[in-house]
Amino acid sequence: MQTFHDVACTVCGCVCDDLTLTFDGDRLTGDERACELARPWLYSLNEARPPVARLQGAEATLEKAIGEAATLLKGSRAPLIYGLSRSSTPGQRAAVSLADQIGAIIDTTASKGHGPSIMAIQEIGESTSTLGEVARRSDLVIFWGADPAQTHPRHFERYSIEPTSDLLPHGKEDRHVIVIDVHKTQTAAVADEVILVQEGRDFEMIAALRMLVRDPDCSPVVDCGVPLEQLRSLAKRMTECRYGAVFFGLGIASLHLGHLAVEALLELTADLNEKTRFIARRLRVSGDVSGADSVLCWQTGFPFGVDLSRGVPRFNPGEFTTEDLLERGEIDACLLVGSWNLPHLSKKALAFLQTLPLIVLDPPNALPPLVAPAVQFTTAVYGIHAPGTAYRMDEVPIPLRKLVDSPYPTDDDVLHAIAANLKGMADATA
Ligand code: SF4
Repeated sequence: MQTFHDVACTVCGCVCDDLTLTFDGDRLTGDERACELARPWLYSLNEARPPVARLQGAEATLEKAIGEAATLLKGSRAPLIYGLSRSSTPGQRAAVSLADQIGAIIDTTASKGHGPSIMAIQEIGESTSTLGEVARRSDLVIFWGADPAQTHPRHFERYSIEPTSDLLPHGKEDRHVIVIDVHKTQTAAVADEVILVQEGRDFEMIAALRMLVRDPDCSPVVDCGVPLEQLRSLAKRMTECRYGAVFFGLGIASLHLGHLAVEALLELTADLNEKTRFIARRLRVSGDVSGADSVLCWQTGFPFGVDLSRGVPRFNPGEFTTEDLLERGEIDACLLVGSWNLPHLSKKALAFLQTLPLIVLDPPNALPPLVAPAVQFTTAVYGIHAPGTAYRMDEVPIPLRKLVDSPYPTDDDVLHAIAANLKGMADATA
């Protein structure tokens, strides 16, 4: 038996780094502080033992599968590399390097998630902070279009509601928690106040708040389903708090023209900083989607949807983002680094993906991909089988340790091997 303390969990963007895990050989036998999302995922690694590599569903050697993957990519004129949000810095770097080598488009699951928020941040900027700062200082916490009780079960305990500090010695009692959403969510149960906004009217509500923050006596006429007196009271609370934090989710970002709603929210946050300290942060869903943004940014200059086919990076959401490319039928081969996000793609995109040569890299406990891959690799889990780095939702890098041995290579190993194989082919024909 071996027990490891301060283990980081990469199941969601909280990346809690205080878990205790006990292993008997490579089997997990005990845990402390893993939440209801993390526990089933961690224990499912005990039973999952798929082959290291498969060709058309049949077990194959790693070498043969790498050769086949390289051949498919060599024959492609418009390849796409997609996924990366449950990888780690080494795998993400290797994916960008391979995309550069073969002139691919590279995109992350952010294009189906907080892509609109990233576009808004590019336009407006962001009033930011670490989650540690929120835990210590924030006496007003707002969850807007997000339900962390379901998606980030330990967010309240570690970062936003329960922590005590010298500034907030009574934890939750010293904070006012507001949920703004279109219906009562699970998170509403822990809130002091719930504000129900009419579906699709967040932009109008934010515009009214901006007016009320600037002039508390004005009476904006807005149709957002929230009574004016409730808006006035919210604006007052926002301006009078010592440190406000708004965590926003896909309830805003995935609206029609969601980037404009997020832009308005970031502008409201900037307005509030003329009166107090206020921050706005995205609630990122998957464990290392912030890392994927960061690695793509430092390697290409852009966070997602990057075309490398012309030798220089080009960024254009809607043009170089996965669902749009698939729906328009503009790629001819696809390499997925993690297939867990496929159910979020449209039926039309999935139907076209089905027709393509597909290479998939997935951890051992992944569900079978929705479409049949030509080549499939099982890869080690960073933070359990291999060391790496995951970026928490506030972009703080958290080191991941190797805890137990695994027969599986990392996605970094597989991507580098494919790249080397392609180089070998190119050298042979030179
Ligand atoms: S809240 Fe997220 S990171 Fe923390 S233990 Fe649960 S799933 Fe893991």
